[in-house]
Formats: sequence, C-alpha cells, structure tokens
Amino acid sequence: MIIKIKCKNSDNKCCKCNEKAVFTSPNLCKEHFINSIECKVSQTIDKYNLISKDDKLVIAASGGKDSLTLLHIVHKIHKDIIVLAVDEGIRGYREHTLKRLKEFCKERDIQLRIYSYKDEMGKTLDEYLSKNKIMPCTLCGTFRRYLINKYAKKLDGTKLLTGHNLDDEAQAFLMNLFTSQLKLSARQGLKTGIISNEGFIPRIKPLYFCSEREIKAYTFLKGWNLTFDECPHATDSFRGYMRDILNEYSIINKTAKINLVNNFLKILPKLKENIEKNIKSYPILSCKNCGEPCSTETCSACSFQKALV
Ligand code: SF4
Ligand code: ZN
Repeated sequence: MIIKIKCKNSDNKCCKCNEKAVFTSPNLCKEHFINSIECKVSQTIDKYNLISKDDKLVIAASGGKDSLTLLHIVHKIHKDIIVLAVDEGIRGYREHTLKRLKEFCKERDIQLRIYSYKDEMGKTLDEYLSKNKIMPCTLCGTFRRYLINKYAKKLDGTKLLTGHNLDDEAQAFLMNLFTSQLKLSARQGLKTGIISNEGFIPRIKPLYFCSEREIKAYTFLKGWNLTFDECPHATDSFRGYMRDILNEYSIINKTAKINLVNNFLKILPKLKENIEKNIKSYPILSCKNCGEPCSTETCSACSFQKALV
C-alpha cells in the first residue's frame, strides 16, 4: 500500500509559513514537515547524548520505512556509519526490502554488510519453518539479535542504532503492562539494556519520538514511494491488537502515544534500578559453543541450531 497524505481541509495552511499544509497536527507544508522530523531526530540525539563525534555507528537496517528514515537522517549528521542487514531467507518479502536497501546505500555511498541465516545459521528461516513446529518470530528474533550483536562488534561498532519508533515503544509498554510483565520494560527506552557488558554493543533509538504516521508521511514526502509490506510470517497478533487500540484512541486524543511514552520515561530509572539489584546475582557467561554472551552454558541461538532439523 502506498500512503497518500492529504489535508483534511484544503484551506489548511502551514503554521510556519502560510503555504498549503500537507500534514495536520501540527499543520505543516512539505518543507517544514520534513525539516521538523529531521530536527526532532537530531534534538533527540543531542538531548539524550545518544551519539558522540568519535562513535562508529552500526545501523541495523532492513530496507523498511523506519530503517531508511533513520539511515537518511543520521547520515546527514554523522559520517562514520556502516549498515548491517540480516537476510532471514523469507521468499517474496525480504529480497524486495534488501534490494531497496542496497540501492539506498549505494546512492549515499554507505557501506552495507548483509549476513544471511543460510550462511550463518545453516538454513533460511523458510527452511527451518518448513521442517520444525516453532513460532516464526521466536526463532527469527533470536537469530537476528544474535547476528546483529555479533557482527556489530566485529565491525568495531561503538553504538548500534535501530529504527524503533514512538508507536513501537508505546505498544511494547502497554503489552508489558497488560501481561503484568512490567519488569521487561526496564529493557526499553532510548538506550536499551540494563547493565553494560563488553559482550553487548550499546543500542540506541534515534526515532524514539517519531510516530509511525510521521515516518510514513516523511518517506512519502521524500518521494521514496515505499510499499509497506508485512512479513508473511508475522504472527504477533497481540502487538497488532495494541496497535489498533492505540491508533483508535489517538483519533480522539492526539497526544495519547507521546503521553504514554513520556510517562514511561519517568518511571524507567526506577524500573532499571530494581532490575539491576537482582541482575547482579546472575553473571553474564560466554556460550561454550560460540563465545557470545548468554545467561546459561549455551546461548539461545546455538541451542536452537542444535535442537532444530
Ligand atoms: Fe522475523 Fe517475525 Fe519479523 Fe517476520 S515478523 S521478519 S518472522 S521477526
Ligand atoms: Zn552460542
């Protein structure tokens, strides 16, 4: 689907320059809207000290709207960047987004490394799923986190950037509240992770305060003409339910998502503090098979590879 942004009212004017607005709440013309998103990302980076000038940034990208927006904006303000992508081997889906990502990086002369499940984990995701009864996202998420962390370190990255946006964060917080797993939210925030350990590369989310609606509008107004396809294995109906609830309520309360996330940020330090106290009694080990950090003898990625046919 290609999103078309239209003003509800053709008399709407940009609140900055009086040109015709192409985005509402706030009303902005094309130029001021694009500028507002780019400013919002740079202000987030500055305010929360997400990036320093000596950082070597590894951007985890898929070729979707969030990662392309992240890549485009961050590349304007920082040049030491390498893009890391994972090819899960999902036919009819991933090859299209990776093609787009390759073109995007080539146009901007940005280094891109792609690591595939086939080469790294023995089989494509489709092959694993055809022979084993397992939730696709459980396996896929474990392999992806594993490869991204492993190769971001090998590429000498000092920070790993992900394209999580305001909607992702609000949905995740609500999901943890609704399932009484608030402690899991200690891992959320602009800088993820609870304790620092050399086995884990610090992860940051510069699009944290940009909504999904803003990012879709940004990519459209930049003329990228993206299609917003969904992975055919997407089974996370709980997240979809949270997305629908939030989107529906946001029609009558336009600041619902940002209020939720801002209030979450107020309690986050307390959540982290509580978890830190307990986590100290669980040392981080190295996987006896691959050496990657884990909490048991063997990491989850190696355990899956061993258990699956
Ligand atoms: Fe992998 Fe699930 Fe995402 Fe598809 S939706 S790419 S299976 S984590
Ligand atoms: Zn391992």
